[in-house]
Amino acid sequence: MPSMNAADPQWVTVLGATGSIGCSTLEVIALHPKRYRVFALTGHRQVDLLARQCVRFAPRQVVVADAAAAAQLRDLLAALGASSEIQVGYGREALERAVADPQVDSVMAAIVGAAGLEPTLAAARSGKRILLANKEALVMAGEVFLAACRSGAADVLPIDSEHNAVFQCLPQGRAGPGVRRIVLTASGGPFRDMALAQMASVTPEQACAHPNWSMGRKISVDSATMMNKGLELIEAHYLFGVPAAALEVLVHPQSIVHSLVEYDDGSMLAQLGNPDMRTPIAHALAYPERIASGVEPLSLACVGSLDFEEPDMVRFPCLRLAREALHAGAGAPCVLNAANEVAVAAFLANQIGFGGIAAVSAQVLDRCGTREAGQSVEAVLALDREARALAHQVAGELAR
Ligand code: NDP
Repeated sequence: MPSMNAADPQWVTVLGATGSIGCSTLEVIALHPKRYRVFALTGHRQVDLLARQCVRFAPRQVVVADAAAAAQLRDLLAALGASSEIQVGYGREALERAVADPQVDSVMAAIVGAAGLEPTLAAARSGKRILLANKEALVMAGEVFLAACRSGAADVLPIDSEHNAVFQCLPQGRAGPGVRRIVLTASGGPFRDMALAQMASVTPEQACAHPNWSMGRKISVDSATMMNKGLELIEAHYLFGVPAAALEVLVHPQSIVHSLVEYDDGSMLAQLGNPDMRTPIAHALAYPERIASGVEPLSLACVGSLDFEEPDMVRFPCLRLAREALHAGAGAPCVLNAANEVAVAAFLANQIGFGGIAAVSAQVLDRCGTREAGQSVEAVLALDREARALAHQVAGELAR
């Protein structure tokens, strides 16, 4: 990892700058202009927002989806009077340049879904400090990703609020001897109390209206099905090196306790805070120091009471599927992730119902969940493609 002198600014590349995590990251960076400089910003389709971000943060590089978006961005930057030195690129190689440049110290990995895998791997191979929001990269390619981090001597700091909480409750962020259990908390999403019969007909808008967190649409739907918590179990297994049996989920509707670690001596350590992603982002940016995040201090007196309950596995079959994939190991997490991404996109496009997400994921996991895990990124991507093709077929059959 590049050396970081406290007096020098830290150069940060924000992958997925136009998304929910990307925007929150830039809000934290904006509070500390002497401490952080933006090296590169990447977006995909939201070119207008990216142009405004370029004017505000003056990155050296900016990356979009394709040549047409790049041309549009160049025109916008000229019209807004942005620096003519900003290099505009597009596609995979430009993304990899934006993370691997020797000037870059830290990479916020906040592209949504499997699209984030390759640039996050490039950050790992080039030994950056990776602020990992893109859990899907770790779920689909856990071993490959960790091997790339080891070979590049990259550090990984979790951004998911639960994993960031666990990291804060573990010495040096690793689960060594004496750790009995890791407990990930879950809000239960918008449908925790809804009558089961009603859940079949919920709309994408209802699924995206999370009671506590403001997030992108894909993770919002994953929270509503609790697939998000399932993917987080798999993420925790890789990040902290703990077996499935030592990982638990506890529903906590207020989203104040972000997760807990239980030790053999009976101690339970928890991290608490208001549900706002700027807290874990600021923690990971500054680690091991602490900086202001802009988040309101938590008033436990105002919160009053904190509730906890077991998750309902009948209501949330996706959580069960993710547990099965974690136990099965090998290629199962990659297959489940791919099937879920296709199913969520089909639900958001009103092609299948809410229950269809679990149905597609279950069928695809059943039919190709026993495949070997790839030991190379090419093998992982091949398995991802195969599972996606099958998921499209199953979703198409359901849609008819
Ligand atoms: P958003 O949907 O809000 O943002 C996604 C970002 O990825 C956008 O910048 C988008 O660009 C970009 N993007 C989309 N598709 C591609 C692609 N094919 N290639 C390159 N870039 C692409 O997502 P979130 O910010 O909510 O989530 C990002 C990641 O962080 C996810 O993996 C999620 O699981 C994780 N996470 C999010 C949390 C949250 O609170 N939001 C909490 C914990 C984890 P554009 O918009 O310009 O098209």
